[in-house]
Amino acid sequence: MRYTQYLLPTLKENPADAEVVSHQLMMRAGMIRKVAAGVYNYMPFGLRSIRKMEQIIREELNKAGAIECLMPMANPAELWQESGRWEKYGKELLRFKDRKDTDFCMGPTHEEVITDIVRNTVKSYKQLPLNLYQIQTKFRDEIRPRFGLMRGREFIMKDAYSFDLDDAGADAAYAKMYQAYRTIFQRCGLKFRAVEADSGAIGGNFSHEFMVLAESGEDGIVSCDACEYAANVEKAELIYRDIKTPAATAELQKVDTPGQKTIEEVANFLKVEPSQTIKTLIVQTADEEIVAVLLRGDRELNEIKLANMLGVDWALPAEESQVKEATGAPVGFAGPIGLKIRVIADAEVQGMADFVVGGNAVDVHYTGANLGRDFEVTRFADIRQAVAGDPCPRCDCGKFESWRGIEVGHVFKLGTKYSEAMDATVLDDQGKTRTLVMGCYGIGVGRTVAAAIEQNHDEHGMCLPMPLAPFQVLVSMVNPKDDAVREASEQLYQELLDMGVEVLLDDRDERPGIKFKDADLIGIPLRITVGARNLKEGNVELKQRASGEMSLMPLTSAAKTVQ
Ligand code: ATP
Ligand code: MG
Ligand code: MG
Ligand code: MG
Repeated sequence: MRYTQYLLPTLKENPADAEVVSHQLMMRAGMIRKVAAGVYNYMPFGLRSIRKMEQIIREELNKAGAIECLMPMANPAELWQESGRWEKYGKELLRFKDRKDTDFCMGPTHEEVITDIVRNTVKSYKQLPLNLYQIQTKFRDEIRPRFGLMRGREFIMKDAYSFDLDDAGADAAYAKMYQAYRTIFQRCGLKFRAVEADSGAIGGNFSHEFMVLAESGEDGIVSCDACEYAANVEKAELIYRDIKTPAATAELQKVDTPGQKTIEEVANFLKVEPSQTIKTLIVQTADEEIVAVLLRGDRELNEIKLANMLGVDWALPAEESQVKEATGAPVGFAGPIGLKIRVIADAEVQGMADFVVGGNAVDVHYTGANLGRDFEVTRFADIRQAVAGDPCPRCDCGKFESWRGIEVGHVFKLGTKYSEAMDATVLDDQGKTRTLVMGCYGIGVGRTVAAAIEQNHDEHGMCLPMPLAPFQVLVSMVNPKDDAVREASEQLYQELLDMGVEVLLDDRDERPGIKFKDADLIGIPLRITVGARNLKEGNVELKQRASGEMSLMPLTSAAKTVQ
């Protein structure tokens, strides 16, 4: 590609709205241009990196036995109603109507559509295991789109979905994807961690997030300094060795039915002073299993966290919950009547009076799900986030170290949530109907490229690693008006093209200073400078963008050297 015939609009200044380096550099290097909040054009130079990322993903997923397909962005509401997510998804789901007044949404993820494909086409266990993926544009009406491609509203995602006959099959599919993800991010040259992102054993489902380590990351993660354990801080298991407040033992049955309690009543129940304020309430069964962690009045306690804590598919946030309607209390927990529980109060903030500690709310709050019958809790997650120095829950000697991370990938064992709701079944070898066990696996394509820039840049520009760089070699023709320089550059350019090297020839009639500045900004890994002075000796100069290392070499062997 010749610079003069290319579209590479570089910028001298950082755009005002670009807060993080990758956003600044992608704008300045002409990789992206904004169309609307969280909606971007992929300019030619940026698209090359995006396509490389996609290709790496494709190769590794194909190797892992996944099959590519492509689903529509426009999803009929019908499918989303079947899964129940039309009601639950909230404002990130962009809904619209067609001319016949039929409801649609822009797919933010494709569990519904893929489950529909599979239930209509897969009938026998012989067609399993199956893993289908697509690389496709998603739309999520993010509340705060920012950081360029990192948190867009329209963005490219690779999403894969596995279908298996049983749990063991689904676990194997998960393990395969997990491994493929490791290879993908390794191939990109990224420093990353795979961290636990779900409360584990609950319902047999689990998930890992792949986090690129970067100061600008929106996620906090911890990893043990002695063993393999690593987790999202929101999900990290914590050990409460140091709880100092008194523990109360009670049977749920003996606690009053749900209802607003006075501070005195609850304080008495917990055996704490009424004036003492409570932040976290941990409910344990008699054999020390933690069955719930409740926190009052914390905005962080959203439905997802609450659901994860309780090991149910969903739970309503305090304000909206039916529990509130029924009882006037903002957060509720209940187990089967008669369950022996122990309540540990982490005394700090106030307002215990608003907790429901009772036996009936479960019917209202977690329709169907019943502790002990439908699920077991063997570990606990806590609202307090893990911090550096916390003891590791998996080994006796380790302590947490903490990092910032960018979530570039997420693997999820879904179980039968969608296949059950949408009736995706096959016949097994006995002719028996079986509900498919699913997994889903996402990678943010643009976000990964942005994360790679976060990890690979300096004050002059980006230094994307070779596998993601838009071009491999930049040939910088110092002075196109000099015949010898022009001819040598053209010859080298042609030679590289013939070898299949991805080369950009800077044939612009610009001052060397400008050319070198742009070269550093756009960060093509290898730069070969063809200048009159070195050329007199038959040499050109090779510069490694990332290390800054320079060397002279004969023009005649330059192409072979960089190939
Ligand atoms: P986040 O926690 O950052 O909002 P998520 O957990 O909602 O991400 P997933 O549903 O797990 O995202 O989607 C799979 C992958 O898609 C993510 O790991 C991420 O790489 C990418 N992704 C999600 N949201 C965005 C976005 N708004 N812009 C760009 N990439 C995104
Ligand atoms: Mg999100
Ligand atoms: Mg996330
Ligand atoms: Mg995620």
